[in-house]
Amino acid sequence: MSDRVIRALLPDPGLRLTVVDARRSVAEAIARHQLRAGAAVPLGRALMGAVLLLHQRPKSERLTLQFSSQGPLRGLVADAYAGGAVRGYVHVPTIRFPLQDMDRLAHAGLGRQGVVGTVREMEGGRLEQGQTDLATGGVDRDLELVIERSEGERSAFGLEVALRAKDEEEEQLNVVRAQGACLLGLPDHDPYAFDAVGRLVRSLPLTASAETLLAELAGDFAVEVLDEQPLEFRCRCSLERASSTLLLLGEADLLSLAAEPGYAEITCHYCGHNYRFEKDALTLLVTTSLEAKAGKPS
Ligand SMILES: [Zn+2]
Repeated sequence: MSDRVIRALLPDPGLRLTVVDARRSVAEAIARHQLRAGAAVPLGRALMGAVLLLHQRPKSERLTLQFSSQGPLRGLVADAYAGGAVRGYVHVPTIRFPLQDMDRLAHAGLGRQGVVGTVREMEGGRLEQGQTDLATGGVDRDLELVIERSEGERSAFGLEVALRAKDEEEEQLNVVRAQGACLLGLPDHDPYAFDAVGRLVRSLPLTASAETLLAELAGDFAVEVLDEQPLEFRCRCSLERASSTLLLLGEADLLSLAAEPGYAEITCHYCGHNYRFEKDALTLLVTTSLEAKAGKPS
């Protein structure tokens, strides 16, 4: 089943509940960055966290989470867009923890010392930014603290990435499950219902899809689905953007690069795609750029 995010309301107790199933997106991120368990779990959680935070407020175009920490991962970036796209990367992708210890070590990659920055882009381009100290480094509690500090609201997050090794060295990982949920209260919500549903959200029951997760978490409360969207790992990089990055070097340096043997390469952090510029492409890039400048009135 493809990845989905569902935003719903439990009208009776006044709760907002957003759920995501991101198994394929997380698997794509792990494969693109060739991550082992120690990096795959925090990145998978953060990708889902960014999606849930994006959908928590209507009219949001983009939500970026930037974790910077003292832990071995040093940090990570997760970026979710309206329209069902998510992408991200970790700063040190090579760390590996034994898969059997991941329940215990899920927090250890980031560690407790650090900050999480949030950037929300609203329709029309307005930016809202914030920064909060890490609570645990496990991403879920850290995002609860982000909401408490930025909106003054209580929330409950559950983010679960379950992996299985395809080989003994745990070089190749299967994503058995990647699901998440975020609970928020409307003004005048029922606090007892919040606690009951919040406990379920934090322990996140094992289910087959976003729909079944939503039904399981809502329990006996009536559910009103506000919107539902497919989700995929999708990057925004392109040859044009890679070319612009190269041009920052300046035309003279690019020409001397083109005169040397080999090629120039730009790698996208978010998706790991390599843009390779052979000698001819570099020369063309410089010529086009110089022509464009010459054509501009000074
Ligand atoms: Zn990319």
